[in-house]
Amino acid sequence: MKRYENLRLLAEKAQPSFLQYYKKNKKRLAKMDTEVQEIHDEVSDEIDCLLCANCCRTLGPALYDKDIERMAKALRIKPAEVVSSYLRIDEDGDYVFRSMPCSFLLPDNYCSIYESRPKACREYPHTDRKKFEQIFKLTVKNTETCPIAYEVLLRLVKK
Ligand code: SF4
Ligand code: SF4
Repeated sequence: MKRYENLRLLAEKAQPSFLQYYKKNKKRLAKMDTEVQEIHDEVSDEIDCLLCANCCRTLGPALYDKDIERMAKALRIKPAEVVSSYLRIDEDGDYVFRSMPCSFLLPDNYCSIYESRPKACREYPHTDRKKFEQIFKLTVKNTETCPIAYEVLLRLVKK
């Protein structure tokens, strides 16, 4: 896997060109989900999340009731205990993990509740979702954390 230790710097350097691309291609992007999905698949095959885990170390995904219930089942505790032991409410009023790196991240970068992980963890970095154009700007921000987001945008703007 390509090394991404200096991802933040690389991303900051590339972000103006990503935003410029967005400005120029906003309308076209609305019809480019299939293309973006193909790039996502190609990049995901090349980048091993187990060698990265940046998202699990630094981002706090929002968690909803269904996430909490699923986690409670997996941990064999009550949903209220999930909240009191692992979560806090952030400035937007959403539940997020109390501490980062995430308490469920293991030393080998595996997730100890992988099958029951929150929806936001499953979907991050969202580069394979429909209506990608709507989250383009969020993806530009995510390039600072996620090599997949960075590579997807890099390849997209080169097309
Ligand atoms: S930051 Fe991106 S590449 Fe790294 S583990 Fe998370 S999803 Fe995978
Ligand atoms: S629950 Fe699992 S996938 Fe989600 S942040 Fe924690 S370690 Fe990562």
